[in-house]
Amino acid sequence: METIYALSSAAGRAGVAVIRVSGPAAGEAVRALSGEGPGPAREAVLRTLRDPADSAALDRALVLWFEGPASFTGEDVAEFHVHGGRAVVDGVLGALGRLPALRVAMAGEFTRRAFENGKLDLTEVEGLGDLIEAETAAQRVQALRQMEGALGELYEGWRGRLLRVLAYAEAEIDFPDEEVPGDLTRKLAPEIGRLATEIRAHLDDGHRGERLRDGVEVAIVGPPNVGKSSLLNRLARREAAIVSDEAGTTRDVLDVRLDLGGVPVTLADTAGLREAAGAIEREGVRRALARAEKADLRIVVAALRADGGLDGTFDMAREGDLRIVNKADLGRPGLPGVIPVSAATGEGLDRLEEALTGRIGLLAGDSERPVITRARHREGLQACLEGLQRALGALAAERETELVAEDLRLAARSLGRITGRVDVEDLLDVVFRDFCIGK
Ligand code: GDP
Repeated sequence: METIYALSSAAGRAGVAVIRVSGPAAGEAVRALSGEGPGPAREAVLRTLRDPADSAALDRALVLWFEGPASFTGEDVAEFHVHGGRAVVDGVLGALGRLPALRVAMAGEFTRRAFENGKLDLTEVEGLGDLIEAETAAQRVQALRQMEGALGELYEGWRGRLLRVLAYAEAEIDFPDEEVPGDLTRKLAPEIGRLATEIRAHLDDGHRGERLRDGVEVAIVGPPNVGKSSLLNRLARREAAIVSDEAGTTRDVLDVRLDLGGVPVTLADTAGLREAAGAIEREGVRRALARAEKADLRIVVAALRADGGLDGTFDMAREGDLRIVNKADLGRPGLPGVIPVSAATGEGLDRLEEALTGRIGLLAGDSERPVITRARHREGLQACLEGLQRALGALAAERETELVAEDLRLAARSLGRITGRVDVEDLLDVVFRDFCIGK
């Protein structure tokens, strides 16, 4: 196994930078730079680091030693906590690079080794990646829970139970009992049914975990000039959109990222919906409609007609969308279920934000239990459930035990692929490509 090294903290000036070395030559690397072998495991020692080529002093740094397998990667690991100046970091990386046994780590390679050495399962790897990417508190809670193994344990627990059922079916094949019709069904079907029920309930999560990880999409839609851009600016508390009183200024879709109750929200201001004159504006309207269509939630802004009635904008609203009328400073309809706001005076914005946060909380967010955070999990669970259902059908029809066992095997394999316990070679490049920091 090659020994790899990399700067593990962010590039750029900092008080402290961490350079990590993992592999059999990690101890030699400590000796080469600090003149002595590693100190006691898991204790920081203060050393002067020198370039072995010319003995030039590089830094006075903390050196930490983790003896494999009790390390992040499961291999011997050394960490150099150096001062985070460019010349220090470049000097230490350069000196490590000249050691013959070392090479630069590829993106995600430390974590890949941790997976390959059984320190993390794939869901934990994904959780770690999500934790590094987390922008809001609720995302952090979810990522941390997954990184600590809550999802992996749930799936491995199900897989363990499934493997016990399978072992029973296989024993039946190898040592058939006196043929008692329906016997196998009585023994296996209840547990398979319980597993199917639990997995179905887990799948039926309204995509909360995936939405929290990816962010909730909210589109502001309505006719030109109702004040969509002004509202977006108010909600974003900064001048993010171009506000103008010339109809049709927002020609494309403009996004701002908000943190609403711990959930990341992408708020999109869309081109006004109207019969557009020019080709560019027509394209803007097309995009606006497409965006509004796929958004998780819409803030539908209607305009008041001269006679005090509403235009027909709410016709496009769906259940769960927020219906508002802006420019309440100029007059307001007293309609149930419609929030009057004024982007100009700020009136009604608290109520709008509260309603928005409430709706978003229903779509995504904190859950007490581990939840699905990726399509990959969902696909694996669905495949597992299908296998279980086929097995139940085969049992009910008193088909050959070998067929039941085959369905159970496929179901267990689908779960095992989620945690990375079985047949994952084809998956790893995908998962680790996603994982790579700064992707
Ligand atoms: P959009 O085309 O829907 O994005 O609308 P804009 O945000 O560009 O606003 C259109 C015009 O309406 C601008 O002149 C705004 O200053 C004005 N406006 C926006 N919100 C309000 C409001 O609450 N009250 C009043 N009186 N004018 C507003």
